[in-house]
Amino acid sequence: MIAQILFILLCLGSIALFAFNFKKVVRNIKIGKPGFPTDRSPERWMTMLKVAFGQSKMAARPIPFLLHLAVYLGFVIINIEVLEIMIDGIFGTHRVFSSIGPLYNFLIGSFEILAFLVFVSCLIFFIRRNVLNIKRFNGIEMKAWPKSDANYILITEMLLMSAFLIMNAADAKLQALGANHYISAGSFPISQYIQNLLPANESTLIMIERFCWWFHIIGIFAFLNYLPYSKHFHILFAFPNTYFSKLYPKGKFNNMTAVTNEVKAMLDPSYIPLDLAPSKFGAKDVQDLTQLQLLNAYTCTECGRCTSVCPANITGKLLSPRKIMMDTRDRMEEVGKNIDKHGIDYQDGKALLDDYITREEIWACTTCNACTQACPVNIDPLGIIMDLRRYAVMEESVAPASLNAMQGNIENNGAPWKYSPSDRFNWVQD
Ligand code: SF4
Ligand code: SF4
Repeated sequence: MIAQILFILLCLGSIALFAFNFKKVVRNIKIGKPGFPTDRSPERWMTMLKVAFGQSKMAARPIPFLLHLAVYLGFVIINIEVLEIMIDGIFGTHRVFSSIGPLYNFLIGSFEILAFLVFVSCLIFFIRRNVLNIKRFNGIEMKAWPKSDANYILITEMLLMSAFLIMNAADAKLQALGANHYISAGSFPISQYIQNLLPANESTLIMIERFCWWFHIIGIFAFLNYLPYSKHFHILFAFPNTYFSKLYPKGKFNNMTAVTNEVKAMLDPSYIPLDLAPSKFGAKDVQDLTQLQLLNAYTCTECGRCTSVCPANITGKLLSPRKIMMDTRDRMEEVGKNIDKHGIDYQDGKALLDDYITREEIWACTTCNACTQACPVNIDPLGIIMDLRRYAVMEESVAPASLNAMQGNIENNGAPWKYSPSDRFNWVQD
């Protein structure tokens, strides 16, 4: 009975803490300007099914795809086992689903195989990150916390899977001994090999089984509450993020309402814009980005696929699209913490542009869209870069000299070159 009460308290406490932190994350996203697309709903559902559920863009790199697929399926399917653990924990039962008969044996056997595959995949991921010197995992933005974060997740998943398999091994051995409460249920294709490593003594086996059971479920609750602090949030946000994917051609830039209004007013002095709120051109800080762009930042898995195909990064420039997303998330969290501490109107004198992302980074972008194409969860780092540039050019009139020269030429000559419009057809004479 005490164990049941403890379990229920733990369960409620974990869910409440997660809900509390999740609310803060939603509040942080709402710092941005409303801007979730609502058009083309069927196409959006299909994109989500294909890209988030189907992992279609991961397939571009087959080996990581297969490893990630094992972890993904493990995560989704082993949740049936977690449901059983929850019911057992609340009602004090043991293997409550075993009443479904032979299907139960099949399920437990499948979970064991999946748990083993998850363990092996995580181990390979861990070696790739820490032993093999893979460039994609070693950018300047991948030091300190982001590196530890990835490792903590992999180690936790390996520990959780080990606890699950050891728990089953002890359980199977207790079943064979005919221990009270341990009904004969389940098949154990993987944990049967661990059984020989365990002691034969019944009370020690019960201790091991109970320890692994509690470790497994406490680990899951801890993992749930770790999500808001981790790149692993993508396991939740990948779904809405892909739903709100950019569906129009990648090269198409969105018109700025503020500019449209200005142009219309110039052409027609009687024009009264529908949106009269004073707006900034482009973005200087996270408040100027859209909520979708901020959701993008929370969804980023820090996989670095964008950076690994970015021509600016490849040719040694400072720009890394992954860092753009990570900086946006860090700044958003900083603004959120400021709101918690000092209230909604507090200004800390910092901004995303300059304090997090430098001018050198934004002007290194070629706007090629390779990053958006490569991203497995349809994130758009280029959109943020362009908004920061728009702010620099249109609010501050600060742009690289070459760009200023080109803009001056367009203004004076109607073309990016420095030649007079009257000389435009000189080439015909030759
Ligand atoms: S659009 Fe910019 S950030 Fe993205 S890959 Fe191209 S150069 Fe890099
Ligand atoms: S933006 Fe996309 S591709 Fe780039 S690191 Fe994040 S999840 Fe990976």
